[in-house]
Amino acid sequence: MDDRQFRNAMGNFATGVNVITTEVDGDVHGMTANAFMSVSLDPKLIVISIGENASMLDKIRKSRKYAVNILSNDQKDLSMIFAGQIKEKHHVEFEWLSDLPVIKDCSVQIVCDVVNEHVEGDHTLFIGKVVDLKLEDCSDPLLFYKGQYQSLEKTGAVI
Ligand code: FAD
Ligand code: NAD
Repeated sequence: MDDRQFRNAMGNFATGVNVITTEVDGDVHGMTANAFMSVSLDPKLIVISIGENASMLDKIRKSRKYAVNILSNDQKDLSMIFAGQIKEKHHVEFEWLSDLPVIKDCSVQIVCDVVNEHVEGDHTLFIGKVVDLKLEDCSDPLLFYKGQYQSLEKTGAVI
């Protein structure tokens, strides 16, 4: 099976879009990610999956904590910035939640401590124990489907 066939298949699973953030020695780093899942309610655990070539990998290994910022439909530019799809450097304003940098105006900000790490193939899964979260009333999420950014409005869904 070739990579494109696998990616096309996985791309049929519509997801939201997150920016993962962390901080090491005063430097804030962000990375766009859609590999994210709620894992457990008691205790409250989530998981993210970081590719072996991503600079985020070493940063989370050092900080042992990360935040997941769930993007709204009007934050596509931020997704493109933190995926390296916009090449120019941009100044992004962060705010802080429980000692971690988080993205302003997201629908959800979740702060975690890493409690486990599993290397699987070319990605590393980081299990995060949720220590804090902030939930805003944003009903219009940014979506990723078949390799394209989408919105509920574009798909004709009622919001
Ligand atoms: P870099 O490539 O160094 O940084 C990414 C970009 O963020 C750069 O342009 C950088 O300038 C900018 N940036 C970082 N920190 C700051 C800051 N403080 N202020 C301003 N700009 C900053 N990869 C995965 O491993 N797992 C996934 O689940 C995943 N899902 C994705 C989902 C989508 C929809 C997309 C588009 C991409 C996804 N990727 C995923 C790919 C991943 O986002 C890119 O490969 C990314 O470039 C890897 O980032 P990096 O940590 O290597 O850092
Ligand atoms: P795409 O067609 O590559 O993505 C469709 C789906 O394939 C994604 O939602 C994801 O589930 C899967 N996928 C893609 N790349 C993967 C990877 N390296 N490892 C594991 N699963 C992967 O869409 P695109 O527009 O070409 O993606 C933009 C860029 O973002 C690409 O470079 C892609 O590799 C990267 N991306 C990486 C991941 C990831 O590492 N988990 C997820 C999404 C996108």
